Formats: sequence, C-alpha cells, structure tokens
Amino acid sequence: MVNQYDVIIVGGGIAGLQAAIQLGRYKHKIAVIDSNDGRSTICRNYHNILGWPNGVSGETLRNLGKMHAERYGVSFIQNEVVKIEKNHDVFHIYCRGGDVYLAKRLLLATGVKDNIPSIENIYKCLGLTVYVCPDCDGYEVVDKHVIVIGSGKTGANMAFTLTYFTRDITFINHDWSNLDYEVNVMFDQKGIIHIQDETDEILLDEKTSDFIGVRLKSGKIIEGERGFLGFGGNEVRSDLATLLGIERLENKHIIVDPRTKMTNIEHVWAAGDIAVHSEQTTIAMGDGMQAAIWIHKSLLDEKTSE
Ligand SMILES: Cc1cc2nc3c(=O)[nH]c(=O)nc-3n(C[C@H](O)[C@H](O)[C@H](O)COP(=O)(O)OP(=O)(O)OC[C@H]3O[C@@H](n4cnc5c(N)ncnc54)[C@H](O)[C@@H]3O)c2cc1C
Repeated sequence: MVNQYDVIIVGGGIAGLQAAIQLGRYKHKIAVIDSNDGRSTICRNYHNILGWPNGVSGETLRNLGKMHAERYGVSFIQNEVVKIEKNHDVFHIYCRGGDVYLAKRLLLATGVKDNIPSIENIYKCLGLTVYVCPDCDGYEVVDKHVIVIGSGKTGANMAFTLTYFTRDITFINHDWSNLDYEVNVMFDQKGIIHIQDETDEILLDEKTSDFIGVRLKSGKIIEGERGFLGFGGNEVRSDLATLLGIERLENKHIIVDPRTKMTNIEHVWAAGDIAVHSEQTTIAMGDGMQAAIWIHKSLLDEKTSE
C-alpha cells in the first residue's frame, strides 16, 4: 500500500530531520510529515553550533537536512497531522484535508511554538539582533545596551538574567502587567531602566537591518543595540501524544527514556524540544539521532523474530 511506511516522523525540524537522515541510511521506508511552521523556520541565525562559527539560519539547516535525507529516499509530505491512532500495532496518522498514512513506528518531533508578540519588523531580526534565549544568545549582548521587551515578572526575570552579560538594560513592560514592589527594588539595585508601554515597532538600520531601538505606542523612541523578548507562554506541541496515552510533564513536555528516547508507549519515540531538555538545536539533533538508532534496533528485532 502506497501510504504505508516503516517509520513516520511527525515534524521535519531539527530533530525530525536528523532522525530522517539516520533512518534513511538504515534503508527503511521513511516519511516526514511537516507543517513548516516551527521554531527553526523563524530563527534567522544560530550562533552556538559546531561547524558554523559565523552562525547558520534555521532555514539553511532545514534545507540542507531535507536534501540530505532525500538522498536516502526519505519522502517529505507538507501537511499538519491532526490525529494519531494505534490499531493492531499499526499507527494511523491523519492529516488536515483527510490524507491518512500508516506506519509501524512513530517519532514525534513537533517542537515548541514561540509566543512572539505582534510587533512590526520582529520576524526580520529573530536570532540576528533580537533574541529569545539567554543560553543561546546571551553572549551576543555582552556589554551592549539591550532592550528587553516582555511581560511583567517573566520579562523582568529575563532582564535580571541578562545582567550576567551586560549592565546596560532597559526593560519595557509591554502589557503593563503588575510588578511586585520587590521587583521594582531589584530594578533599582541592578540599574535597569523600567518603562511601562507597548512596543509598536522594532527599528532597523537602513543599511545593515540591525536592531537600533524601538518605537513605543506613546510615540517615544528608545535607542538600543540589541533586543531580547521575555513573554513566556510558548506552546509545547505535544497534544497529539495524549490520544496515544503518552506520559507528559505538567508543562506538556514528553517524558522519554534517556537512553532510547522511547516514550512510555511501545513503538513511539519523541525527540527535540517536545521532550524534556534545554531546547537547543544541538540537543534536538542528538535526540533525533539517538531515537533513530533505537527505532532501527526495534525494526531489526521485529524482522529477526518473524
Ligand atoms: C528566535 C529563536 C532563536 C533560537 N536560537 C537558538 C540558538 O542560537 N541555538 C540553539 O541551539 N537553539 C536556538 N533556538 C531553539 C531551536 O530553534 C530549537 O531548539 C530547535 O528548533 C528544536 O528543534 P525541533 O526539531 O525540536 O523543533 P522545530 O525545529 O521547531 O521543528 C518542529 C517541526 O514540527 C512541525 N510540526 C509541529 N506540529 C506539527 C503537526 N501537528 N504536524 C506536522 N508537523 C508539525 C513544525 O512545523 C516544525 O517544522 C532558537 C529558537 C528561536 C525561536
């Protein structure tokens, strides 16, 4: 049957692509179903990845990964998976529009969706001069004037975290959320300027497109050298897992075996940001690779017991 695969990978971001490359090299019949709207589609530069000292965009990694996997015969289907069922050891994977695909093994690699506020120009500089993660990009703001745009306590905490890298910070409380007295005291102690206003626009240098500041709803312009977002509210895209009885943490990250990346449900693996880890590209790659190795072992075991 045309739509039957050994393994279906739901999510063709960093984890899914690395798994697809490895599983393709084991010569299994693999399909990747991807809705093309994950974090790796919006990050315009990763700065902390081995082999890319000048950084690499999510788009470049995704294009290279897809080309690489296609060399081994991996099929790519652009669609969104809306439901998954397991019937007699076969996974039935339902996509938007009604297409159904069958697989013996399933890898979930659907990642996290970022809560990016609607501010003009924001997508032009994500990962380049405006960042979301201090572990990824704290280094990019060393000794620079950073404008942290955020929401209440979450945004304030981002500003406090960044004091490790720079002491020149302006925090814009975008949605006017309440801040405790203690937080205001900390702003004073750490020399953080605090403004309550909505940000309407990220200002970009005409020639380089670098971040040069923000325009607030009040019309005021604040100049800065780099931006950081601190909103929280990212969505862990693991709801498909609940239909299969897969165990998740309260924050919706999927629990996997640390060695095999298999979930509590037999023949279902999870890799990348959807699992429990530090939400990094290199970890997502490692997860995808590790899951692929154990998926292969499980397919081999099945063949030898036939
Ligand atoms: C602005 C920004 C900057 C970052 N900077 C860094 C950095 O410098 N260094 C670093 O290591 N990490 C960085 N990250 C994090 C990094 O992007 C993630 O760790 C990485 O993308 C995780 O890979 P993943 O495969 O788990 O998820 P993703 O790359 O998000 O891929 C998940 C894929 O699943 C697809 N999908 C989701 N649901 C479905 C569905 N139901 N059906 C079909 N497909 C689906 C999505 O479309 C997506 O393509 C950054 C993230 C952002 C947003």
